[in-house]
Amino acid sequence: MNDLIPYEVYAIRYATVERRADENFIGGDPHDSGMAMDYFIWVARNSIHSYVVDTGFNEKTAARRRRHYLRSPVESLRQLGIEAGEVKDLIITHLHYDHIGNFDLFPRARFHLQDGEMAFATGRYMSSSLFSQAYEQDEVSAMVRNVYAGRVSFYDGDATLAPGLSVHLIGGHTRGLQVVRIWTRVGWLVLASDASHYRRNLIEERPFPIVFDVGEMFDGWKRLRELAEGTENIIPGHDPVVMLEYPAPAPSMEGFVVRLDSKK
Ligand SMILES: [Zn+2]
Repeated sequence: MNDLIPYEVYAIRYATVERRADENFIGGDPHDSGMAMDYFIWVARNSIHSYVVDTGFNEKTAARRRRHYLRSPVESLRQLGIEAGEVKDLIITHLHYDHIGNFDLFPRARFHLQDGEMAFATGRYMSSSLFSQAYEQDEVSAMVRNVYAGRVSFYDGDATLAPGLSVHLIGGHTRGLQVVRIWTRVGWLVLASDASHYRRNLIEERPFPIVFDVGEMFDGWKRLRELAEGTENIIPGHDPVVMLEYPAPAPSMEGFVVRLDSKK
């Protein structure tokens, strides 16, 4: 054990979409069935620190990209007692549209981002839709303006942001994807974001098809296992099982918020 103050960790589900199982693995999937994708942001907080991880997308983007929008993640944050306008620290796992869409609602936040992600989202690969399709030009441009405004803290690899909370460069899905490792009452927990969209990607070692570097993604799964205490403490980025495996912190949050440092 250690003398770190454990964090409470929450997943906030704000949108969902129906998909076929074969869309979620390179090489398809023998199960000819549906495999929905949920969209999340996350919160880690203790008596001293509070972090929001990613910001989700808004209703307009949901309509344009044909996602089923449940409600703004900002409403769920409010239920947890967090006002978006007051948030000081936002960890951005990567700059894809479903992870940074609402950051204009966080006017006081400092963004914590990997060097490699900013370079990737503004560099040579964005001239091909193969890599740029999951980025929104306006959002990346807005993040560039945040850099000039001095609102972005950059990391290159692993970094401890506070006692018991660190970020780790994984890459794979995008060049600069980072995950968040958090000390909790159930041990070390890792918010994997899109290092593993579904738990099956990691367990079966079968990559999700949107991937910049398959080798890095493969190494990333190994890294997730090193960082977390047990596979059950690796929280996949888009998996509906998260809503089934963990309890809502209150009945009023059922279907929208679950507490990850606990079991149902
Ligand atoms: Zn994503």
